[in-house]
Amino acid sequence: MYSCVEKTPSQDPVPSTQKEAKASTLVDLSHDYSAETIYWVTAKEFQLDTVFQGDTDKGFYYAANNFSTAEHGGTHIDAPIHFAKNGQTVDEIPLEKLIGAAIKIDVSEKAFKNPDYLINIQDFLDWEEKENTQIPVGSIVLLQTNYSKYYPDKLKYLGTEERGADAIKLLHFPGLSPEAAKWLVANRNINAIGIDTPSIDYGQSEFFKSHVILLSENIPVFENLTNLAQLPNQGFEIIALPMKIKGGSGAPLRIVAVLNP
Ligand SMILES: [Zn+2]
Repeated sequence: MYSCVEKTPSQDPVPSTQKEAKASTLVDLSHDYSAETIYWVTAKEFQLDTVFQGDTDKGFYYAANNFSTAEHGGTHIDAPIHFAKNGQTVDEIPLEKLIGAAIKIDVSEKAFKNPDYLINIQDFLDWEEKENTQIPVGSIVLLQTNYSKYYPDKLKYLGTEERGADAIKLLHFPGLSPEAAKWLVANRNINAIGIDTPSIDYGQSEFFKSHVILLSENIPVFENLTNLAQLPNQGFEIIALPMKIKGGSGAPLRIVAVLNP
């Protein structure tokens, strides 16, 4: 039984700001794994083998598969040990680095026109000026080039449909310049970084310096992200949970953004 109580607005227990707050939404930033999944040109691709699929003679339905994959393919994480001898393996990355407040830096206008675009220090400074804040301490930083629109078209996304060691020099896609990576680790304190291209170093990179700089500081890297266009520039959170491979240099990654957390 409910009693009827006369209320004036000042007695309202729910503050009006809370009432107006938008509901949290989840955005999936992962590509799925399939025969289409894009791998580094020298890596073994994803394979799914059916063990059983159908009705059993005991009367119940049953489905099970085996899968195999390289660590570095599709939406995945680079653990620090990938390019840093004493870096953390994927199972050793603290969860605090993988879950938390995030920002997005949209360089798509420049990067989409130039497959060899290098995200530079000025791109970070422009973001900070526009957003009226420094990159917050402990941020997960996501770099939006919009190359995910091309996925899984290998020619457009990687720059080549060829595979094998000889294909490496044919790779063309944007990445983070080593100077900007150096600036980030020296001047800002970030927890992790991600990009919607196959690699944090651009396609034409020979020495993978941005990988070395970031991973040497135990900053994990997320690659082959998608749906970054759906994110605001700041004020959201990331949950990035890789498969916990003991001793792994990387792993498939399910990464989700929480809007209006
Ligand atoms: Zn990788």
